[in-house]
Amino acid sequence: YAAKRSGNSVAWYSDAQEASRLSHLSLLSDLRSAVKASELQMWLQPKFALATGVAYGFEALVRWQHPQRGFISPAEFVPFAESTGYIGMITQWMLETALSTLAAWQTQYPDLSIAVNVSTHDLRDPNFAERVSALMQQYGVKPALLKLEITESGIMEDPSAAIALLHRLHDTGIALSIDDFGTGYSSLSYLQRLPVSELKIDRSFVIDIDQHPATQRLVKTIIELGHGLDLSVIAEGIETQAERDTLLALGCDAMQGYFASRPLHGQGLQNWLDQLDT
Ligand code: C2E
Ligand code: MG
Ligand code: MG
Ligand code: MG
Repeated sequence: YAAKRSGNSVAWYSDAQEASRLSHLSLLSDLRSAVKASELQMWLQPKFALATGVAYGFEALVRWQHPQRGFISPAEFVPFAESTGYIGMITQWMLETALSTLAAWQTQYPDLSIAVNVSTHDLRDPNFAERVSALMQQYGVKPALLKLEITESGIMEDPSAAIALLHRLHDTGIALSIDDFGTGYSSLSYLQRLPVSELKIDRSFVIDIDQHPATQRLVKTIIELGHGLDLSVIAEGIETQAERDTLLALGCDAMQGYFASRPLHGQGLQNWLDQLDT
């Protein structure tokens, strides 16, 4: 019985592998049409100054509402889109959606910024900086209102190419942020040469930080490093008051996370913007 069961489980395993391969193939063709079919959504998660609680901008997060499979998490399809090159299409769509949103806000919320996540694949595109700059002009948005988040590990994959591209982006007036900092083995000499204005501490350091003195000492060092390089330091994924209080005490400048606000979209975003006026 046991042998038969293990036989079955082997068969099941390879079926599952085959199913996963097939589902990825169909996901790929679905991704191609997702943009046209308006299945992608841009959700916006606010960023707040820690000391004052004032919101100064958002991070744009992509969501895919698939007609058959339902909601597909970016954690699932972004890495897949990166390995197939389709991420370029998603980045382009997110940039245009962010820019049209910023253009629409110009009278009522002229100071709120939106940060778009860019992938390693985008960094390898030789025309990326020029394309972003042309889009900003097309939408008539002040460059300082569009920000780009680039992961530390993405930069370190090919640091000299990344430095060159980041300088071209910086020259257009766009503000750059290093995402998921602390997980990507930065070389300090490269860090000094990156024209970035924000350092984003990865959520793995933020979880229960109030209960871990060793993590507090490490994060304090990261914050001092960031300030030494004239960067604003933001912590991502803050879920509790205790985590927030600890990061404020450690000198962190800004925060993002479910404690302050989840990502917003549609009426929820509108309600959130409405309470800014009152
Ligand atoms: P990320 O850029 O580090 O984004 C932060 C992720 O943490 C988001 O997940 C966000 O919803 C989630 N988050 C925010 N606050 C909290 C919190 O308090 N607790 C917890 N547990 N999570 C929190 P999301 O939207 O699922 O995105 C996951 C990752 O997918 C992002 O990590 C980013 O690397 C990638 N991604 C999302 N949208 C895009 C995009 O438009 N382009 C690219 N290239 N990547 C994207
Ligand atoms: Mg990000
Ligand atoms: Mg992040
Ligand atoms: Mg992260």
